[in-house]
Amino acid sequence: MNALPHLLLGLAVAAVAAGLFAPGIEFSLPTVAIASLGALAPDIDHRKSKLFKAVVVVFGCVAVIGFQIARPHYGLAESITIAFGAGLASVALAFLLKPRHRGFTHSLAALTLFTLGAGMVMGWESALLGGSAYASHLLSDGVIKPF
Ligand SMILES: [Zn+2]
Repeated sequence: MNALPHLLLGLAVAAVAAGLFAPGIEFSLPTVAIASLGALAPDIDHRKSKLFKAVVVVFGCVAVIGFQIARPHYGLAESITIAFGAGLASVALAFLLKPRHRGFTHSLAALTLFTLGAGMVMGWESALLGGSAYASHLLSDGVIKPF
């Protein structure tokens, strides 16, 4: 399933879960964001996913920014070489660390970690929304592994 159907299904499941278990919950930008993240996060391990592409861009930007911090200590040619190398290395690292598609991120362990993380950061209502959206992703993919 592509990102948009996962997103729409995840938001719908999160709304139903909220209606059943937390009827007074306020649908705000953070709660909708955590439900959206829950619906899309399992596919972060897919090279074509928007989240994976965002991670690659962030790695590249961090490398360049880190280089700019180091720039005063090196000459221009060395700085350009180091920036290019750091950018390539960070993107290569993102690709190397990428787990196989529908691996750990499509497991009950990942669902539990995501839900607990959302709960610790944003509270149990957000955990309910994010966890139910994450679970909808796993169910709609038909892939649910223990680990
Ligand atoms: Zn998936």
